[in-house]
Amino acid sequence: MSKELAKNYDPKDMEDRIYEKWENSGYFRAEVDRSKKPFTIVMPPPNITGQLHMGHALDNTMQDIIIRYKRMQGYSALWLPGTDHASIATEAKVVEQIAKEGLTKDDLGREKFLDRVWDWKKEYGGRIVKQLRKMGSSADWSRERFTMDEGCSEAVKEVFVNLYNKKLIYRGERIINWCPHCLTSLSDAEVEYEEQAGHFWHLRYPFEDGSGFIEMATTRPETMLGDTAVAVNPADDRYKDLVGKNVILPIVHRKIPVIADEYVDMEFGTGVVKITPAHDPNDFEVGLRHNLPVINVLTEDAKIVEGYPGFSGLDRYEAREAVIEALKAEGALCEIEDHAHNVGTCYRCGTTVEPRVSKQWFVAMEQLAKPAIEAVKNGETKFVPEHFDKTYYHWLENIRDWCISRQLWWGHRIPAFYCDDCGEIAVTKEKTCKCPKCGKEMRQDPDTLDTWFSSALWPFSTLGWPDKTEDLEYFYPTSVLVTGYDIIFFWVIRMMFSGIEHMGKAPFNTVLIHGLVRDDQGRKMSKSLGNGIDPLEIIDKYGADALRMTLVTGNAPGNDMRFYMSRVEASRNFANKVWNASRFIMMNMDGVEVTEPALSELHASDRWILSRINRVAADMTENLDKYELGIALSKVYDFIWDEFCDWYIEIAKVRTWKKEEDPASANAALWTLTTVLNEALKLLHPYMPFITEEIYCTLNEDKDTIMLAEWPAFKKEWDFAEDEKSVELIKEMVTGVRNVRTQMDVPPSRKAKLIIVSENADVRKIFDDNREIYVNLAYTSDIEVRADKSDVPDDAVSAVIPGAVVYIPLSDLVDIEKEKERLTKERERLVKELERSEKMLSNEKFISKAPEEKVREEKEKQEKYKSLMADVEERLKSLG
Ligand SMILES: [Zn+2]
Ligand SMILES: [Zn+2]
Repeated sequence: MSKELAKNYDPKDMEDRIYEKWENSGYFRAEVDRSKKPFTIVMPPPNITGQLHMGHALDNTMQDIIIRYKRMQGYSALWLPGTDHASIATEAKVVEQIAKEGLTKDDLGREKFLDRVWDWKKEYGGRIVKQLRKMGSSADWSRERFTMDEGCSEAVKEVFVNLYNKKLIYRGERIINWCPHCLTSLSDAEVEYEEQAGHFWHLRYPFEDGSGFIEMATTRPETMLGDTAVAVNPADDRYKDLVGKNVILPIVHRKIPVIADEYVDMEFGTGVVKITPAHDPNDFEVGLRHNLPVINVLTEDAKIVEGYPGFSGLDRYEAREAVIEALKAEGALCEIEDHAHNVGTCYRCGTTVEPRVSKQWFVAMEQLAKPAIEAVKNGETKFVPEHFDKTYYHWLENIRDWCISRQLWWGHRIPAFYCDDCGEIAVTKEKTCKCPKCGKEMRQDPDTLDTWFSSALWPFSTLGWPDKTEDLEYFYPTSVLVTGYDIIFFWVIRMMFSGIEHMGKAPFNTVLIHGLVRDDQGRKMSKSLGNGIDPLEIIDKYGADALRMTLVTGNAPGNDMRFYMSRVEASRNFANKVWNASRFIMMNMDGVEVTEPALSELHASDRWILSRINRVAADMTENLDKYELGIALSKVYDFIWDEFCDWYIEIAKVRTWKKEEDPASANAALWTLTTVLNEALKLLHPYMPFITEEIYCTLNEDKDTIMLAEWPAFKKEWDFAEDEKSVELIKEMVTGVRNVRTQMDVPPSRKAKLIIVSENADVRKIFDDNREIYVNLAYTSDIEVRADKSDVPDDAVSAVIPGAVVYIPLSDLVDIEKEKERLTKERERLVKELERSEKMLSNEKFISKAPEEKVREEKEKQEKYKSLMADVEERLKSLG
């Protein structure tokens, strides 16, 4: 052998080198190949503003394990990568950047601003995909996409026009979530709720006819400037006679009606609510039903609009104070009550969201949601773990129309055009548009689409849609989507209904949901807590293989996991173990030609380990097909660490040293060692791609990569059930002997005779025929296998195993006279210590004066001496 593994495992030295080799060799590339079955994963596109965090690391490790496994199984395995333009996040970054130059978006104008964003993208947008490479991701980078590249943009326009023509996209005056800081609308999913301390202000509005007051409570008194009604429940007897009357709105002194609507909860408060259609989504609906005017009292940055002397120009919180004062002065405020309530905040900046009526574009959801629900109900797409289908149904069954327009510049511009002359609207894929009615040049809608509008099309836009490409036909629908439970609403449901609507088929067979990576105390990793762990730092210190293994160890689908540094170290130790074992095997092969032995030349231990790896391969395949990545890993881990390294290599190494004396045995051992190592490396490869590549290519000079090696399938000819049983029995015996020796503190250098007694001839045969397996492992000086226990010395120590008892003469384990002497001395010492202790504890002065802790310590000492004394007595007795 000419190549040799480096003396020490050093991931730093090899990971980048190996990745470059893979990428240059085109091993990641998936082709349309009709002789193979396709297996497709689309990578959830990280934001171009993104920096690799543990969530990405987990998500990508899982995808890479699955795609490497499928590639080895012979599928045309495509893992399609890309990035998302992340409209609001990216725009915010560039706004921040130009602010440092004293510029605003408006100073630059739309075109120049967008140029700056593209520049930013060129400089920083590729950072995240470089970082994904460090993880070992075997994505087909030749197919890398971007949500705003030409093809994806074409798909977005196609979908918009298509849905508009089907009347599934419409423009409407609706109440939407508005961020007064970001100055854009937000979809429901972009609003985060938090509990805030607040108040109920109890107000009194006087009847127009002077017949008294009606009382109600509000959490937002400043919006009363825009009240256009007061409402009660139609079934509420208390207010029956009041419906139809008018009240006078305090401060503004406008006349507003008392209306009856079922939305009002009779049990809550006084059973009366004020209706402010412009500033509350429920009130907006009530307003639509009763044809109430919509009076907007807030500007887009949440200040009181013109026309309210004393209030105009005040920020919404200042206005609240001023309105309360004014209400008090009019005698319209009768009580203030503390009240905690849920407040929606902007997911980007944390500002309290303001419901706002504006003209926006919407996707009508009802018709699209139904088949998406059906696709999961009928099993076309299934969730792993299954119970996440409940979350999915919940979102879809309660979905509201999706507000898709955003008042941002970075993103897909809405392909709608307006004629300022005649008011005509045209929706088209063209860049410019002339009015179909009057021929005037039309003005394009200045807004852009919600980022999720383009990522909703990701599973097919990336494969070439709307063109009917070969890729699309071959790789769609995709096989599995791997994603976190936190974006089922944002992303999964939108890809589902989009795929069904535009492709006629759900985009995935399986949606594999994973949890969050939390810190070692179970907290979410966050900037504010400063408890985030940078995956790149871990890679730098321990290697990507160790990080990947850590992320998958013990990981069950759907569950959150905790990240422990001690586990990273354990993973690195495992890599070291694999490295050292491989090096050891290769050193023993030096200068030897290993040939495949005849079946008859294999020893029982060879057949056992072949049979074991065969079983492990079959089990792992079953687990991986069910996406039980953590369970599959534990199987190959246990096999390599325990059965292969700690048992088989120990058993076989002696034979490899006897190349001259018994060449057939040495050859069989070496062949088995290398064969099993090769198979184990293949099973480990999806998890630890780098180290397995390095060892495999060193071990097999004729091989360029392990990536394309065939995944080990169950082989009938390696199924040796009898040998498995025999070796398991021998392992139990060896473990029994080792336990005895550990208990008695016998050093490994002290060999002892074993007398194995069994009435069962088969068991005797196992121990007789396989002495070479345990002669060294059980530290034997001599072995005797027999049917009865006559002649076994009385003082022999024994260990019981299934079907047999193994005896070891005591004098073989310890030097009896010397041991007696030592134990006698020890007994004398303990007697003295116990006397001293007894004296102290019976001294009342000590008990009453000494610190409590001292007394307790002394009592503990006494207990310890007593227990040591019992041991010594016991052992002396056994020595006779
Ligand atoms: Zn905001
Ligand atoms: Zn026109």
